[in-house]
Amino acid sequence: MIYLVFGVVWILYSDRFLETIVDDVQTLTQLQTYKGWSYVAITAVLLYVLLYHGLQKERTLSSRDELTQLLNQHMFRRELASELAFASENQQKVALITFNIDDFRRINHVCSHAVGDQLLTDFANLMHDFFAEQPNLIARIGADEFAVALLNVKNTENAVLLVRELQEDFKKLKVEGYQSELMIGAGLAMFPSDADNLKDLLACANLAQEEAKNLGPGQLRLYDHFFGESIHSRLQLTADLRHAIENKGLTVAYQPMFATHSMQLTGVEALLRWNHPHLGPIRPDTFIALAEQQGLISRITDYVFEHAIAELTASDLLGTQVPQLSINVSAIDFAEANSVERFYQRLAHLNDWSLLTLELTETAVINNFEETLRALSALRQAKIHLSIDDFGTGYSSLNILRRLPIHEVKIDRSFIRDIEHDDDDRTIVRTILAMAHSLDLKVVGEGVENTEQLKFLLKHGCHEVQGFLMAKPMNVSELSAFVSNLPAATDTLKQFVRSQSQTGLAREL
Ligand code: C2E
Ligand code: CA
Ligand code: CA
Repeated sequence: MIYLVFGVVWILYSDRFLETIVDDVQTLTQLQTYKGWSYVAITAVLLYVLLYHGLQKERTLSSRDELTQLLNQHMFRRELASELAFASENQQKVALITFNIDDFRRINHVCSHAVGDQLLTDFANLMHDFFAEQPNLIARIGADEFAVALLNVKNTENAVLLVRELQEDFKKLKVEGYQSELMIGAGLAMFPSDADNLKDLLACANLAQEEAKNLGPGQLRLYDHFFGESIHSRLQLTADLRHAIENKGLTVAYQPMFATHSMQLTGVEALLRWNHPHLGPIRPDTFIALAEQQGLISRITDYVFEHAIAELTASDLLGTQVPQLSINVSAIDFAEANSVERFYQRLAHLNDWSLLTLELTETAVINNFEETLRALSALRQAKIHLSIDDFGTGYSSLNILRRLPIHEVKIDRSFIRDIEHDDDDRTIVRTILAMAHSLDLKVVGEGVENTEQLKFLLKHGCHEVQGFLMAKPMNVSELSAFVSNLPAATDTLKQFVRSQSQTGLAREL
C-alpha cells in the first residue's frame, strides 16, 4: 500500500517538482535519469525486504508447532542432527527425553478438545520454563508427545532429576472436569553411550518411553540395553515373531484350573508359547510386550483364539471334560474401534460362546474406562465370561469394580507367592476375597505352588485355584491324557482338601 501511494505520487509529481526547481534543460534531463535510477533502486530494496520477511515467516511457520510454538518434529530432527554432530566433535553428551501424556485420549474425549489443547499448551509452557534457559531443543513431536534434547549435559543423573521435577510439576496442572491426577510418562536415552546417531537415539528414547508406559502412569524409564539387547536385534526379533505368526510357529499351552473345595476341573487357561529356532523358548512376558509395542498384538490374539478353539474342539475336550477356556487379551485389543466385532469374528468357530472367558488386566480396563466398559457389556450380553487378571496390581477401586460387568477376578501370583510369611500379602488377599464376595464375583487364586497356600485360600473362601501344585501348563495331547486320568491325578489333593474341611478350616461358599 505504502509502495502504491509512493509510486503514484512519484509518477504524478516528481517531474513537475523538478521542472519547478530547475530551468536548465540539460540539468533537468540528467536529474530525470538519476530519478529513474533511484526509483528502480528503491523498488529493488522494497522487494527484497518484502521477500525476506515472507520467507522468514514461512520458515517459522513450517518449523514451529502451531498450537504450542515449540519446534515441530521435522525441525527438531534437523536441528538435533546438527547438534549431535557438534556434540560428537566436542565430545559432549546429549540426553534425549520423550514424553507422553498419560490418559490424554480420555481427557480429550471426556473433557473436550479445547481442554485437551489447553493442557498441551500448559505443558509446552512448563517445558519452556524448565529447559529454555540453556540452549536446549524443545519440540512437540506427536499429538500428545513431546521431546527435549538436553545439550551438553554432564551426566544422566542431572537429566533424570530435571525430568522427575518436571513430572512432579505436571501433576500440579489443572484440567477442567478431570478428577484423576495428571501424569506424564518419559523415556530417556543418552548420546553417545546408548546410541551414536540420530535415528537410533530417537528409537532408544521411544523404546524407553514405551517401557515407562508399561510400568504404569507417570513413570520415567532410562533406555537400558536389557530391553533393547540392541535396536537391531529387537527389530530382528520382531521380524522373527511376525514370521512365527505367519508360519504357525507358535504353540498354545493349557493350564488347568480347579474348584478349591472339590478339586474338580473348572477350565483351562490358554498360554502362548514361542520356541525360537535359534534362541530357544522366549518368555511370553517378553514377546507379548514386543508384540504390543510393534503392533502385532491383535494378530497374536487372533492366533490364540484360532488355535485354542480348533485344538480343544478337535480333541473333543471343550464343553465336555474342559468346561471353560480362558484366553488372555491385551488392552490394545480393546482400543481398536471395532473391538467387539473383532471378538465375534474370532469366535466364528465356537458354537457356545458361554464356554469362553476373556482375561484382561486392570490397566486394560482403566486406561480407557468408558469405551472398555461398553465393549465388556456387549461381550457379556453375548454370554462371554469376563475375568480381571493380575488383580491387586493396579488401582481398581471397589467403585470401578462394581461398575464392571465381570464374572471373576484372578488374584495376582505375586500376592500368593509369599502368603505363608508375609502379613501384608495375607491382608491383601483377604481384602480382595471379601470385596469379591460382597460383589458376588468368583475368585481364582493363581500361582499356587504348595499346600500352605492352598490351605490359606481354602480357609478364606477362594473359589478356584490354578498353579504348579495342581498342574503346569501343558500341550493339548498332554491335556487329553491329564483329563482322562483326572480322578487319580488329583486324588491326594482331594484328600488334603477334605481333611481341611473336616477340621472346619475351609470356609463354606
Ligand atoms: P498370566 O495371565 O498371569 O498367566 C499366568 C502365568 O503364571 C503363566 O506364565 C503361568 O505359566 C504362570 N504360572 C501358573 N501357575 C504358576 C505357579 O504355580 N508358579 C509359577 N511360578 N508360575 C505359575 P506364562 O505362561 O509365562 O505367561 C506369562 C504372562 O504372559 C501371562 O500372565 C500373560 O499375561 C501373558 N500371556 C501368555 N499368553 C498370552 C496370550 O496368549 N495373550 C496375551 N495377551 N498374553 C499372554
Ligand atoms: Ca491370565
Ligand atoms: Ca495373572
